[in-house]
Amino acid sequence: MKIGFIGLGNMGAPMASNLAAAGHEVTGFDIANTPPDGVVAAKSVTDAATDMDVVITMLPNGAILRSVADDVIPAMKQGATLLDCSTVDVDSARAVADKAQAAGLNAVDAPVSGGIGGAAAGTLTFMAGGSEEGFAAVSPLFDIMGQKAVHCGPSGNGQAAKICNNMILGVTMIGTCEAFALADKLGLDRQKMFDVVSTSSGYSWVMNAYCPAPGVGPQSPADNDYNPGFAAELMLKDLRLSQQAAESSDADTPMGARATELYTQFVEEEDGAGQDFSAMLPRFVSRRRG
Ligand code: NAD
Repeated sequence: MKIGFIGLGNMGAPMASNLAAAGHEVTGFDIANTPPDGVVAAKSVTDAATDMDVVITMLPNGAILRSVADDVIPAMKQGATLLDCSTVDVDSARAVADKAQAAGLNAVDAPVSGGIGGAAAGTLTFMAGGSEEGFAAVSPLFDIMGQKAVHCGPSGNGQAAKICNNMILGVTMIGTCEAFALADKLGLDRQKMFDVVSTSSGYSWVMNAYCPAPGVGPQSPADNDYNPGFAAELMLKDLRLSQQAAESSDADTPMGARATELYTQFVEEEDGAGQDFSAMLPRFVSRRRG
């Protein structure tokens, strides 16, 4: 396929590179970065969209996606597919998909989980929203860039799945960290806490696979001085998107709201920026009740 790839940052560059290595003709554009090996440099955003079978975007947020889409959509050929893999708000994803469909294009929103490591290894998980036809058109590309793709329903549902998952993740991380901090105060050994909870009803991916306590459970960012991993500010971005979505759909999400407040405080007022999101554990340990 002829693929245009817009947004060649930490995630986009290795994803574009994997598509080129698999034999696709990939042309890339980024306002700051040059394309990785195997990807041809486009002169402009429209140059990266003209005549392409698929245009992939991997951009920082919904406002940038909307403005890039305004340039890209008119340049794309009829029947081509616009595939956005960024994590953005549901409303932007749906607005961009509406414009693309009105212009005779397929639109698929497919945010990813798996991080930079998954992007490089081609083991991302894609959660996709859009038509059956659009999903089928880009499925071969999901197979190259990832290990799993779930079609979650119409446009915007990929973003909906992503932020619901990450709202659970943020809330669970906070719950797990505050429980470890309480266990410390009660004189309960962290390893014993892990042994019990990881095989009891408090178990979770956070506890069992990404334990925030150093030296306990499998290797995790806690064992590497809380270097990310998944940075606290990226968790905050996703929690804010969950609250924006809750607001616009009138959903009651008190735990998501509290997790957003705590990560905002951690990232903006404490020393959370640049640390893994599991560094909430030393934060709770260093604080007193109140
Ligand atoms: P990044 O900041 O490294 O990359 C974004 C790129 O977009 C940058 O290179 C930037 O120069 C480029 N860009 C910005 N405006 C542009 C424009 N108008 N035209 C062309 N290029 C433009 O971010 P990233 O870590 O690669 O993340 C990309 C997306 O993936 C984000 O939405 C993020 O939330 C999501 N995501 C990231 C991770 C992760 O671990 N990094 C994991 C899952 C999802």
